[in-house]
Amino acid sequence: MALIVQKYGGSSLESADRIRAVAERIVATKKQGHDVVVVCSAMGDTTDELLDLAARVNPTPPAREMDMLLTAGERISNSLVAMAVASFGADVQSFTGSQAGVITTERHGNARIIEVTPGRVQEAIDAGRIAIVAGFQGVNRDTKDVTTLGRGGSDTTAVALAAALGADECEIYSDVDGVYTADPRIVHDARKLDKLCFEEMLELAASGSKILVLRSVEYARAFNVPMRVRSSYSNDPGTLVAGALEDIPMEEAVLSGVATDASEAKITILGVKDLPGEAAKVFRVLADNEINIDMVLQNISSLHNLTTDITFTLPIADGPRAMELLKALQAKEGWDNITYNDQIGKVSLIGAGMKTHPGVTADFTEALRDAGVNIDMITTSEIRITAVVREIDLEEATRAIHDKFELGGDEPAIVYAGTGR
Ligand code: ASP
Ligand code: MG
Repeated sequence: MALIVQKYGGSSLESADRIRAVAERIVATKKQGHDVVVVCSAMGDTTDELLDLAARVNPTPPAREMDMLLTAGERISNSLVAMAVASFGADVQSFTGSQAGVITTERHGNARIIEVTPGRVQEAIDAGRIAIVAGFQGVNRDTKDVTTLGRGGSDTTAVALAAALGADECEIYSDVDGVYTADPRIVHDARKLDKLCFEEMLELAASGSKILVLRSVEYARAFNVPMRVRSSYSNDPGTLVAGALEDIPMEEAVLSGVATDASEAKITILGVKDLPGEAAKVFRVLADNEINIDMVLQNISSLHNLTTDITFTLPIADGPRAMELLKALQAKEGWDNITYNDQIGKVSLIGAGMKTHPGVTADFTEALRDAGVNIDMITTSEIRITAVVREIDLEEATRAIHDKFELGGDEPAIVYAGTGR
């Protein structure tokens, strides 16, 4: 008998019928003799609809009220799932994030989990009940206000609960059978992966794969919680995310997949003085305004005037704000110009096998060359190569790399529903 945490995403809960199907699966798991804790996201596109609604009554809604609104989405699905489970005769109890002991920082809209004290959930389990917990939400101890964990935060709720309860596995249910070698919507012969280590999944999530939220994988790695990504529409065992990179035997290390990301923009500052501390000024002002940057590139300095150019990428959503902050500094710092481009895309190849296969970068760049795709920026980590390309070339670049490294399978990938989350 195991303790299993199951998280169901919005696309698995988009209608009454889907909720009943999910409830059947939950009850079946319980009947196999396992203890079951379930974390629910809001039904379908509820969160987006609530955001739209809020924007129509107030273009800049107070953050606290926004969280009051958004947490309602998960409370609705949560109680409905509990009702459906009860209709199959199982003992069940639902909890809000706060009741489940999810304690967070006070930052509305993007709070971090500080700790989970799941006393009431544990009591429910001990009493033989199925516990259903609203995802994506918690409470701050000082303000006593409810908070949300950022988009897709239910994954993090599930992993954090699994860690706190000492669960054997955290199953994440969505509308695809697992983690694929590429987005099946872009690459039609994308293949489902059986297993990935935490580091590979972290790189995939950080490189634009939307299957799991990055923070949930960081949490799973820190607390060593095995995650299984699978579909609520099939009985496929899905993809197991577990284990450390260093424990993969050399002969089993492979190239795992290609991730795409069209959500970033690129800013270039021209004519930055080539002196210690100049780059720090750029990144300090962004950090102080909680803008996350991703890739950074600094050119060699131009010899005739001892200046350099700095380029970096950041989420498009933060682009306009970053430009305002930098423009305000431009005159004082004497930068020549600042340019902004949001028509870019990132394509990344990821896999533990990169450490041991020579020539991966050569093949990667040749694949792009043969597809006629120009590389704008390129960076690597131990197990990842990322190129920034023009956004219109992104899908072609993805297919070219996927083909070059022969990552495809024999069967077309299945996408059951939803919007990819
Ligand atoms: N409902 C929230 C969202 O869509 C949280 C989640 O789905 O995990 O972002
Ligand atoms: Mg959602």
